[in-house]
Amino acid sequence: MDRSTQVLVIGGGPGGSTVAGLLAREGLDVTLMEKQHFPRYHIGESLLPSCLPILELLGVREKIDACGFQQKWGAYFDWGGENWDVTFGASEDRLYSYQVDRAVFDKLLLDHVKELGVKVLEGAEVKRLGFDGERPRSAVWSQEGPDGEADEYEIGFDYVVDASGRAGLLNSRHLHGRRYHEVFQNIAIWGYWEGAKTLTAGPDGAIAIGSVDDGWLWGIPLADGRLSVGLVTHKEVFNAKRQEGITSEEVYHDAIRESSMIGDLLAPAELVTPLRMEKDYSYASERFAGPGYFLVGDAACFLDPLLSTGVHLAMYSAMLTAASLASVFRGEFGEEEAQGLYERSYRQAYLRLLVVVSNLYQQNRGQDSYFWEAQRLTLRDCSAEELKQSFVDIVSGIEDLRDAQATLDLAVRTTSKAMTEWEGWNWKSSTGEEWQKGDPDSLTNEEREMEDARAQFFNTALQRSLGPVPEQARGLYVVTEPRLGLAHYK
Ligand SMILES: Cc1cc2nc3c(=O)[nH]c(=O)nc-3n(C[C@H](O)[C@H](O)[C@H](O)COP(=O)(O)OP(=O)(O)OC[C@H]3O[C@@H](n4cnc5c(N)ncnc54)[C@H](O)[C@@H]3O)c2cc1C
Repeated sequence: MDRSTQVLVIGGGPGGSTVAGLLAREGLDVTLMEKQHFPRYHIGESLLPSCLPILELLGVREKIDACGFQQKWGAYFDWGGENWDVTFGASEDRLYSYQVDRAVFDKLLLDHVKELGVKVLEGAEVKRLGFDGERPRSAVWSQEGPDGEADEYEIGFDYVVDASGRAGLLNSRHLHGRRYHEVFQNIAIWGYWEGAKTLTAGPDGAIAIGSVDDGWLWGIPLADGRLSVGLVTHKEVFNAKRQEGITSEEVYHDAIRESSMIGDLLAPAELVTPLRMEKDYSYASERFAGPGYFLVGDAACFLDPLLSTGVHLAMYSAMLTAASLASVFRGEFGEEEAQGLYERSYRQAYLRLLVVVSNLYQQNRGQDSYFWEAQRLTLRDCSAEELKQSFVDIVSGIEDLRDAQATLDLAVRTTSKAMTEWEGWNWKSSTGEEWQKGDPDSLTNEEREMEDARAQFFNTALQRSLGPVPEQARGLYVVTEPRLGLAHYK
C-alpha cells in the first residue's frame, strides 16, 4: 500500500465512488477506503433521473442499464385524501430512473471505479486525520490482517474527500460542525415484503407514497418482486407511543393498516425480513469544504427521504467536488475559489430541496396532527435570505407550467410558515404582478380545483431543484467537455 496519494476518499457509497471515479478519469492518483466489504446492505433504493447523466459521465450507465433494476417513471402520492400522479419530465421528454437494490448498485459502482484506476481498499476504516494547522494532511486507518487483528497504518494526501455518509468522520472526529434542523426530526421503520400487489395507479414502477395521521409510508417495488415498505414518523410521536407500551412493530403495522393504498398493496403479502429502524433527522454541516477537504453526500448534509433525493445529492456533490479538484490540480483555479463555488452550489441545491420537501408536507391538508405541524421550516433551519433565494430559484422560469398563475399563487401561499411570516417577503411574478404574504388557510375553497396544479407544481419544482444551480451571476460553472473542471463565464 502506498504511503501517500493525491486524493484520499473516505467511503465507497455512491458519493465516494462517483468522486473517486471521476477524478481517476482525469488522471489523478486516488485512493478510496471503505470500512465494509461489498456487497453490503444500504437503505436508499429509489433513484431520481438526475443520477443517470452522472452515471453516464462515469462511463457506467450501460452496466447499470444491463443490471435489470426496476425502471421508475415517477411517483404516486396518496396525500391527505388527494391523489397525485407525478411523471418525471415533460410529456414529450419523459425521463426515468431506477429502483435499485443498493447492495448491488453500490458494488457495481465501486467495482467500476476500480477499473478506472482508483485504488480501492475494502474493510479499511479511516479512524482519524492528522492536521497541519487547519489542513488535514494524513489519515490513520485500520484493516484486519489474516490473523484477525486490526492493524493501523498511515497515509498522506494532498486532499481528502469525506464521503463517509451519515457517520461523517470529519465532523464527528474533528470539525464538530454538524447542525441538526428543527424540522424533519423523523424516524423511519422499514422492511421487505413478498407477494405484494402491483400498484395500478401512477407511472410504471412508481414509488407509492401514502400519508397517514402521524406520518407517511413508502412502497418501492424492486426487480426481485419484493416491495420495500417504510414508515416515516416524528420522533416525539414515536416516543410517546413507545411510552404507552406500543412496540415499534405495532407502530409500523398500524400505519400500514391505516393507509388504504399501502394496506391494499400488502393485503396478500408477507413481511420476509426483520424490521430496520433509523433516525433520519435532517442536518447540514457548517462548512461543506475547507483547507484541503471536501464533504460529499450525507457527510455534508442529509434531507428527509420524502422525495428520494439522497443519492442524487451524493452524486451531484461528488461531481461538483471532482470538477473543483480537477481544476485545482491543473492549476486553473485556486482552492478557495473552487471551494467557494462548491459551497454555494451544493448548499443551494440542498436548500432548494429542503424548501420543496417542506412545502410538500404543508400540502397535506387531510391530516392534522403533531407530525404535519412539525414539518414546517423555521428561520432556525435556514436564514430568511437563504430561503428566499432557494424559493426564487425554484419558481423562476416557471411560466412553462400549464397554469402559471395558479401555481405561482399556490407556491407563494403555501410556502413554509417561516417564509410567509417573514416581514420582507414579497416578490414579483413573471407577469410583473406583485405577490404578498399569503394566508395558507385561505386556500380551503380552492383546494379541489388546484389539485392538478399542485402535482404539476411539485413535479416541476423537483425537476428544477435537481438541475444545476444558476451560477452565471457568480462567474463560474462546471464543464464536462473536453475535460471535467470549472470554467469562467465569458
Ligand atoms: C430511511 C431512509 C430512506 C432513504 N430513502 C432514499 C431513497 O429512496 N432514495 C435516495 O436517493 N436516498 C434515500 N435515502 C438517503 C440515502 O440512503 C443516502 O442519501 C445515500 O446513501 C448517501 O450516499 P453517500 O455516498 O453520501 O453515503 P453512504 O451511501 O452512506 O456511503 C457511505 C460509506 O462510507 C463508509 N464509511 C463510513 N465511515 C467510514 C470510515 N470511517 N472509513 C471508511 N469508510 C467509512 C460506509 O460503510 C458507507 O459504505 C434514505 C435514507 C434514509 C435514512
